[in-house]
Amino acid sequence: MIRPSERAMGVEYAIRDVVLPARELEKKGIKVISLNIGDPGKYDFQPPEHMIEAYCRALREGHNYYGPSEGLLEMREAVVQREKRKNGVDITPDDVRVTAAVTEALQLIFGGLLDPGDNILVPSPSYPPYTGLVKFYGGIPNEYETIEENGWQPDIEDMRKRINERTKAIAVINPNNPTGALYEKKTLKEILDLAGEYDLPVISDEIYDLMTYEGKHVSPGSLTKDVPVIVMNGLSKVYFATGWRLGYFYYVDPEDKLAEVREAIDRLTRIRICPSTPAQLAAIAGLTGPMDYLEEYMKKLRERRDYIYKRLTEIPGISTQKPQGAFYIFPRIEERSKWKSDKEFVLDVLHQAHVLFVHGSGFGRAGEWHFRIVFLPPVEILEEAMDRFEEFMRKRLS
Ligand code: PLP
Repeated sequence: MIRPSERAMGVEYAIRDVVLPARELEKKGIKVISLNIGDPGKYDFQPPEHMIEAYCRALREGHNYYGPSEGLLEMREAVVQREKRKNGVDITPDDVRVTAAVTEALQLIFGGLLDPGDNILVPSPSYPPYTGLVKFYGGIPNEYETIEENGWQPDIEDMRKRINERTKAIAVINPNNPTGALYEKKTLKEILDLAGEYDLPVISDEIYDLMTYEGKHVSPGSLTKDVPVIVMNGLSKVYFATGWRLGYFYYVDPEDKLAEVREAIDRLTRIRICPSTPAQLAAIAGLTGPMDYLEEYMKKLRERRDYIYKRLTEIPGISTQKPQGAFYIFPRIEERSKWKSDKEFVLDVLHQAHVLFVHGSGFGRAGEWHFRIVFLPPVEILEEAMDRFEEFMRKRLS
């Protein structure tokens, strides 16, 4: 037997890990309703036509070559335009790096920041790559609490307690996956103040920025005066192009504190050559083009969110906060006597009701005894899933 690396064997991704038992059921001819993966492209959402057109044109017109490691200049200019419009940030194309989606941005940023034993403050619960990739790059995910009863807002005092001499950055995911929380401006200012006090950069994941239901998203990049902020975004959610694998990040760093980190990250961008050239040409069309499609899509998403929230509040044994952004809801299992863990609960739901959720502990410590539901499918599918789930819960609790 050839020994694999411990580093890789330590990597887990709960969202896809639960797919294996679901596949076993499907092999037996059982129809499973999968509410585990946040991919709008699997349902009635597609990238807007002008982006698809630009992608096809790029391929046909021969834009099939390697581009610059930092991304095409036109793409970086489009990012500057988009981010000035959305966040009012004062950046230039030189501050922007184009990546193979936010996932690669995370790899590059963690790779450029972390030495073994360093830690990054990440929200708990959080999107799994934050813990998984920090560990892969030798770091320690330092999970800060978020307050469920307060719509899962970050707990600033807990954040403060966790900062130590090996802390390298504070990560913020807003709107949040898996909780759907939208952070208040006041909270973001407090995070920036704390980061400033300890000379830490803030890493801001804004991939769901225009997907909000009640309030509007505020970027820490738009609020900072001196604290360096690295903002990440991409085509996967607001532009509905998950499979294109394209994203970007940029530095808002008024005092140039990240100059050396930028150099480290640039070394990493060069060694991975470049992001997809034709996808960038499609992205330019998306970032600079009309956004009216989003209104229609958000109308559908709001209807689905309202529906699932209402159904969940009527099901016994669980409680749930109403998500303010993204397309996830993260209920809490109140009645715990029937299962040993949230994972056992999710597998029980899968085997009995044939509905696939993701266990909350897959999103970190604070996710324990919760589960995540993706509410992207049309109401008819959500209705069938909720009918099955409700019947399951009533039976289990009777
Ligand atoms: N960041 C968050 C918070 C996400 O929820 C996701 C995907 O679900 C990603 C990043 C991954 O984005 P990308 O497709 O750009 O790699």
